[in-house]
Amino acid sequence: MRCDKCKWWSRLDEQSNTQLSGAGYCLRFPPVIIQTDDSEEDFYEWYGEWPKTHQKEWCGEFMKSEQDA
Ligand code: SF4
Repeated sequence: MRCDKCKWWSRLDEQSNTQLSGAGYCLRFPPVIIQTDDSEEDFYEWYGEWPKTHQKEWCGEFMKSEQDA
């Protein structure tokens, strides 16, 4: 079992950010709320994002991708 073999996983664009190589979004559940904090500007921003996981990780919600069936 691993995320890149799971039906809920979507690979990130590796061309746009090499630091995210092997990373993807887990789409099993709705996005989570992220809060950014720029304390110098006293500015807060909220947005939703799916959890990022590495392709070699996995969890108990794993379901085999139909492409790998
Ligand atoms: S975190 Fe779990 S549900 Fe999400 S892609 Fe990985 S194995 Fe699948």
